[in-house]
Amino acid sequence: MAMNIKEMLQNLGIQNSNPSYSTGNIWGDTHGSQIDSFSPVDGQKIASVAAASDEDYKTVLQQAVAAAAYWKAVPAPRRGDIVRQFGDALRKHKTDLGTLVSYEMGKSLQEGLGEVQEMIDICDFAVGQSRQLYGLTMHSERPSHRMYEQWHPLGIVGIISAFNFPVAVWSWNTALALVCGNVCIWKPSSKTPLCAIACQHILAAVLKANELPEGISSLLIGNAIGDKMNNDPRINLISFTGSTRVGRIVSTAVASRFGKSILELGGNNAIIISKDADLDMSVIGAVFGAVGTAGQRCTSTRRLIIHEDIYDTFRERLVAAYEQLRIGNPLDENHHVGPLIDKDAVESYLKAIEKAKQEGASFLVEGGLLEGDSYTSGCYVKPCVAEVENHFSIVQEETFAPILYLIKYKTLDEAITLQNAVPQGLSSAIMTLNLREAEQFLSAAGSDCGIANVNIGTSGAEIGGAFGGEKETGGGRESGSDAWKGYMRRQTNTINYSNTLPLAQGIKFNI
Ligand code: NAD
Repeated sequence: MAMNIKEMLQNLGIQNSNPSYSTGNIWGDTHGSQIDSFSPVDGQKIASVAAASDEDYKTVLQQAVAAAAYWKAVPAPRRGDIVRQFGDALRKHKTDLGTLVSYEMGKSLQEGLGEVQEMIDICDFAVGQSRQLYGLTMHSERPSHRMYEQWHPLGIVGIISAFNFPVAVWSWNTALALVCGNVCIWKPSSKTPLCAIACQHILAAVLKANELPEGISSLLIGNAIGDKMNNDPRINLISFTGSTRVGRIVSTAVASRFGKSILELGGNNAIIISKDADLDMSVIGAVFGAVGTAGQRCTSTRRLIIHEDIYDTFRERLVAAYEQLRIGNPLDENHHVGPLIDKDAVESYLKAIEKAKQEGASFLVEGGLLEGDSYTSGCYVKPCVAEVENHFSIVQEETFAPILYLIKYKTLDEAITLQNAVPQGLSSAIMTLNLREAEQFLSAAGSDCGIANVNIGTSGAEIGGAFGGEKETGGGRESGSDAWKGYMRRQTNTINYSNTLPLAQGIKFNI
């Protein structure tokens, strides 16, 4: 491998014995258990990190409470300028950070660099947003009164993130939360702690150069931390990205203390391939959606719902495309598919294949674990394709691996019903050149997902739109559009500049 791991880590400020909590410039001596980070690319241990202890948690929270009082009083455009500097710093570190994402998480180098680009993009977006935290003005029903609304910071935003987007998801939250006047505490996945440490270093250097206090952005690593954050009333918002199973625990705990949450949970995304589709585009969109990031995107394509008239032709072309796939080291750009995150993920993939077979799936492209010199980490698997029925229990679940299910349909109504007939509601797409079909799919009677696309696949999204999904995907929205409102509290203000005190709805109260 051409990459020099040691040099890359050093460039990102990661020394051998990095502690796992940081309140900005201060990196604490952690006292929790040791977490080893192994690369799924080659199975090598990259480094060890000590998890944060109860004492560390206390320190971080104290700093965050103090920093929140300071930061909310900083003018929003000035907060935006700090995020602008953060974006500039990311530009300088793009190659190193993108490479670390690829090596620690296992996605292709292109996708690792793309993740860092997404961080830069959201910083740019947030800088503009810092001058546009607009509230409305309303006309009062009472004479000589004025009504308007303002958006105020929430205070402390807790960010709990998944392994598969180890840097971008944090930045979506952090960039917006910071310009909105909040301080952030990040608990990353324990599967990608080094990516988190690298990000925190980059932001901490910017905060330090601007002589800002500790606690504006903090990092806490460790499995026990999430639960503490869920139940901590000082954390005003928990933005959680992860599985539906854990999201249910998080949202219940946060709701029971009347905290706010943003939930970005699992998907079970389908592409409808109409008889009026451009089949060349459809094959590429389907294959990239299903095997990109080895099927470990929340927006990965899991189901193809294909019109019966083109079913056989499409199936043949899909199988031919799968035969061309090159699986191997994701840092080598000749490979299309990298590894799964770890051996547990391989286990889930193999179990899902077994279960699908038991339920009656017929495999067109067989799956399985890859072995040999190029696959020593034990995390490389074969992307596979199976013909199924939508109601199979395994098809109703999100298996975070490259397993693609094919389902046949006759009418568009039936296809839309099938597309919607899963518990999740994240991303969806239709491939068609027929305007009526496209519009029906996008209408209120169409896809029930948070994301619905025409003539592009389900996978990936730009930062400009609000990102998230319905049903068991959790209902949260992050990133673009007006997602910033999720990081603020709305206050309605009524000002009376008359000499009397008229009541609303004409109510009389005389004493
Ligand atoms: P996961 O649910 O296992 O873990 C997510 C995070 O939750 C990790 O940081 C984990 O340590 C933490 N956690 C575990 N138990 C917790 C608890 N009791 N309280 C608080 N936090 C706790 O998910 P994963 O395997 O890391 O990621 C894959 C999942 O994430 C998939 O389901 C995928 O669809 C989903 N995901 C969704 C989106 C989205 O935007 N909708 C984006 C990326 C990933």
